[in-house]
Amino acid sequence: MHDNIDASRTDTSADRFTSSPFFAALTRALARRGMRLEDVCDINNPVARRLLAEYGAMFLAADDVLVPPVCVFRGEAEVAEFQARARAQAGLIDDVTIELQPAALAALVAARVEAQAAGFRLTPRGGAEAARRSYADTVRLWASRVEPALEHWLAQERLTTNEAAEVCALAPPAQVAAILALEARGLFCSKDFSKSILYSVAAPGASQHLALVAFDVAEFTNPSVRATLARHGWFQTVRSDLPHFTFLGAREQDLPDLGLERVGEHGQTFWLPAVS
Ligand SMILES: [Zn+2]
Repeated sequence: MHDNIDASRTDTSADRFTSSPFFAALTRALARRGMRLEDVCDINNPVARRLLAEYGAMFLAADDVLVPPVCVFRGEAEVAEFQARARAQAGLIDDVTIELQPAALAALVAARVEAQAAGFRLTPRGGAEAARRSYADTVRLWASRVEPALEHWLAQERLTTNEAAEVCALAPPAQVAAILALEARGLFCSKDFSKSILYSVAAPGASQHLALVAFDVAEFTNPSVRATLARHGWFQTVRSDLPHFTFLGAREQDLPDLGLERVGEHGQTFWLPAVS
C-alpha cells in the first residue's frame, strides 16, 4: 500500500517550502542562469508548488543543460520552442531512436559503453518514449491513468457519476488540481490506486521528458546499471518512478549541496528536492 509514501514530504505550505534547502538551492541555481523563480513557477499556487517539489530536481542540473523556462509547459508550441532551443540530439540504442539534450545523450552513451564493457545491458524502456516526449504524449499518458482511476472509484462508490464526469471534462491544469484534491480524500489515482498519480505519471506539461533530460531504463532493477548511470550524472529524482532517471551532470557527493536529499525506497536510491 502507500505506507512508504510520506505525503507530508510534498504537501508543504508556502512558508515551509520557502524555508527549505531546495528552495534556497533552486533560487541560487536559477540566478546563476539569469532566471528568477517567480517567472518559472508560481509557488503560491499549491499545485504548481507540489509539481515543482516532485519534478524540480532538473532545475538544479549542470550548466551544460538548458532548463525549461516554466515548471509546467502550457502547450505544444511552448514545448516545441524549448526542445528546439535545447538542441535535441538523436542517438540509436538497440534500433530505438533516443532524443535528449546533447550533454545528457553524451553521458548516456558513455554509461552504456561502460555497461557493455562490464557485460550488462543498458537499454530504453518502452521504445522512443523512454526519452523525448511531446506535450500531447504527456496528456495521453496522464489520461491513461485518470480514466481507469475515475472508473475504479466510481465502481467503489467513492465518487458519483456527476463528480467523475465533471473531473473528466476539465482541461489539464484544472484537472490536475481536481485529481490532487481527490487524492487528498484518499482516492489515489496511480495504476494500482495505492499512491499518488504523480508517482506513476507526470502531470501534463510537467514531465522531465519534455525537458529532454529524462530516460527510462529497461534494466533499472540491476544495481550495476544504476551505479553506472550515477557515475555519469544520471540519478533517480522522481519518487517511486523506478525506471526513470534524470540527467543532472553532477557528482553524487555534491547532490546534497544542490538541495537534494537522499531517500531509500524499493531498494533504490532517490535524490529528491529537499522540501521536508
Ligand atoms: Zn520517465
